[in-house]
Amino acid sequence: MTTEQLAGNASGIARAGEILRAGGLVAIPTETVYGLAANALDSDAVRRIYAAKDRPADNPLIVHITEIIQWLPLVESLPEEALRLAEAFWPGPLTVILKKSGLVPEITSGGLDTVAVRCPSHPMARAVIEAAGVPLAAPSANLSGRPSPTSFSDTLSHLDGRVEAVLDGGDCAVGVESTVVSLAGDCPRLLRPGGVTAEQLRQVLGRLEIDSAVTGMLAPGARAASPGMKYKHYAPKAEVTVVDGSPEEFAAWINGRYGHKSTETAYAKKETAGVFALCFEETAPLVDVPAVTCGPRYHGARQAQALFAALHQLDSLGARLVYAQRPVPRGVGLAVYNRLLRAAAFREEQVPGPMVIGLVGPSGAGKSAFGAELSRLGFGVLDCDRFTRSAQVYDGACLAELQAAFGEDVAAAGVLDRQLLAARAFGDQESRARLEAITLPRIVRAVRAETERLLAEGRPVVLDAPTLFEAGLDSMCRRVVAVTAPEPVRLARVLRRDGLTEAQALQRLRAQPPLEFYQARADLLVDTAEGGDLARLARRAARELKGGVG
Ligand code: AMP
Ligand code: MG
Repeated sequence: MTTEQLAGNASGIARAGEILRAGGLVAIPTETVYGLAANALDSDAVRRIYAAKDRPADNPLIVHITEIIQWLPLVESLPEEALRLAEAFWPGPLTVILKKSGLVPEITSGGLDTVAVRCPSHPMARAVIEAAGVPLAAPSANLSGRPSPTSFSDTLSHLDGRVEAVLDGGDCAVGVESTVVSLAGDCPRLLRPGGVTAEQLRQVLGRLEIDSAVTGMLAPGARAASPGMKYKHYAPKAEVTVVDGSPEEFAAWINGRYGHKSTETAYAKKETAGVFALCFEETAPLVDVPAVTCGPRYHGARQAQALFAALHQLDSLGARLVYAQRPVPRGVGLAVYNRLLRAAAFREEQVPGPMVIGLVGPSGAGKSAFGAELSRLGFGVLDCDRFTRSAQVYDGACLAELQAAFGEDVAAAGVLDRQLLAARAFGDQESRARLEAITLPRIVRAVRAETERLLAEGRPVVLDAPTLFEAGLDSMCRRVVAVTAPEPVRLARVLRRDGLTEAQALQRLRAQPPLEFYQARADLLVDTAEGGDLARLARRAARELKGGVG
């Protein structure tokens, strides 16, 4: 069959509608990934989707509509929670599963008594649904088991010659398939993470269970709540392994095996051809094997956007073995982690040895008290602030540089005059930056040395470092824990503790990064206002930092 390449304009959309009305298949862009569409109510057309994709017949399709009113005839009933979700997230990357009506063919729902429905926001997807005049069944436009396509050219590479047409809508904005939530059981259940996050769903629904298939492998013989989740999936041709380590550990791990300076046999035997790192942008300069990047470390949405294009790129580069950096599995990052695990057929390795955990949080959140609890549980806790005053940092060379920058008298007779230095260095931005340029690298060196010493004792290390990210120390950290509390709680604590006026205290709090800063970066958020039992919160955190206490 010759596949028509349709331009993303009015005539391309009209042609797509015509083909779909006649029972044909058209691959169309959506905001998540490209979808392979057919009339959802026409069993013969839907059967052809399964054939074109080589999709197992028990893997149901998602039905796409443009208005909530079109949902009614497809389902037994529309519960209030469904309407709340639609109100909050439609049109957008959320699919909702409900008991289906008799109108939905067996083949569309993969033989289940439920139907998955989504209302996309992509203007071209919406225009095509309207042009077709029927709801469209549309799974991702990949060959079954391969990564979903997020660009026109990747879509063609899967389906050219297998479908009537592909509509060109450029690159997809979200980049991973929709979030799938089931309302067909007693409690709303997240079956597949996506662009709408578990945190957002919980906010609207008040409750949400996360299906174990999201980050776990299905036990042999177990029934999948979402049949699609049981297959090896999203996989490039290479063998992928997810590596759980800090950026520095990840780089050392892969360089040690396959890097130019590797002393291991793989390099000597030239077994390094086709070995690639799939890593975040910041990590690429650290690895000395070819790397394909997948967004910045703390930007789940951009990782999601880049992931499938990166997997396709690895295919075209002829990758044989791919080692992928583990993302922070929160927010949209959970969807990235979920897809990566499936691309890796659940091969995940943890870098051996105790880990370094970054501890961050705004003033008054109770970070140090929380650190003290972790210390009681056996973690080696390093208060990095103490290095800003340590003699180790202010050695002779440091004093000389400070004298050159701020005057001989700041260290007359080799003794640092802290007050004089503060008066000269904290006056303006530029002086402060000059001071940091001299002291920060030395502080970081001291922290690193002390961390290595504690790790050598076999203990996991917690870096209590208010400027963890600014100092770049996060590249040592395998996990980051953020301790937070609502602003009024933090304000009260700061007022009690530091003897400031309310205006001063507020000014200090507002100068710090907002909650979203920590949400994007932390593997674990600890809210110390909740219940307030720090010892219990610390025990829970230690459990979640699996393998934390060695
Ligand atoms: P795709 O459109 O290729 O992203 O695949 C659709 C996904 O939605 C698959 O993982 C299916 O298993 C899931 N899905 C679709 N309909 C249902 C349903 N009725 N119950 C559970 N999961 C579903
Ligand atoms: Mg799919």
